[in-house]
Amino acid sequence: MNKFDIHAQQQELPGSDEQLKPHAEFIHESYLGSHKLQGKVALITGGDSGIGRSVALHFAKEGATVAITCLDTEVELKDAEWVKAWIEGTGGNCKIYPVDLRSSEACKKLIQDVLFDFKKINILVNNAGTQFPNEDLATLSDEQWLDTFAINIHAIFYLTKAVLPQLSSGDTIINTASVNAYVGPKALVDYSATKGAIISFTRALSNQVVNRGIRVNAVAPGPVWTPLQPATWGQVDPQSMEKFGSDTPIERCGQPSELGPAYVFLASQDASFISGQTIHPNGGMMVGG
Ligand code: NAD
Repeated sequence: MNKFDIHAQQQELPGSDEQLKPHAEFIHESYLGSHKLQGKVALITGGDSGIGRSVALHFAKEGATVAITCLDTEVELKDAEWVKAWIEGTGGNCKIYPVDLRSSEACKKLIQDVLFDFKKINILVNNAGTQFPNEDLATLSDEQWLDTFAINIHAIFYLTKAVLPQLSSGDTIINTASVNAYVGPKALVDYSATKGAIISFTRALSNQVVNRGIRVNAVAPGPVWTPLQPATWGQVDPQSMEKFGSDTPIERCGQPSELGPAYVFLASQDASFISGQTIHPNGGMMVGG
């Protein structure tokens, strides 16, 4: 087994994970929950696949009730059903909310729907996101710019604004940023700008609400083996997936299973003195901040 597929699971998975060869690992078999999120309700956007799926499985293992969103497509619904079945199979509770989060109305309705179903939200994980490589700003269309911002940062604003009034002391918000906020790859100008915005949004919002006992943090993953990568880089250069992540100091990409525990940490009481921060599961890449 080489460094690249060190944690990969080989069983067949439905939905977008079919694109991932080898398949990704979402939670270590040895992961033991210890009730860190017992009684909490967590809403995880993009919880159907990739990093969000790992967060959903880990949160459920820690006792949280999990609400996940996905896009209303056959593939993503299949992904989401897999997550729901896994969580229910371990005795947990999961509900799927198919929604396109690019409008304020959709985000408000999502929060209302989850509150109607579960009466509260304790943890909001703003994780849904996308990227469209483009190496020349002159050809980066206004539509792409607006679309990247709509899902990657505007949705975070809409969801956070809608959920904040009912959050109380001990509740948390966790935003998925990216190492690319710091690296700034030349083919991801719009994406990197949104991820930088997420980090600054996290800091400023923390300063605004931490005196209410609400902590706001971010996770800035390095390259992680998720459907987003073949769906974007695989289109540009299919060979590039062979060495995806090999330029990190750890010389491989991460598995989603290596991300979920970071979100558990930030969501739990273990991180009660941490707010406005970004943590960096990125294979050893040095970043400032
Ligand atoms: P993924 O493709 O598995 O997940 C992306 C999710 O975003 C999907 O579940 C999809 O439902 C959701 N989404 C996309 N557009 C949406 C829209 N318009 N409305 C609602 N939901 C939408 O990929 P992933 O890599 O797990 O990505 C999750 C997050 O992690 C993203 O914010 C991404 O930028 C970030 N990230 C990923 C990597 C990586 O290497 N995979 C690295 C750094 C940051």
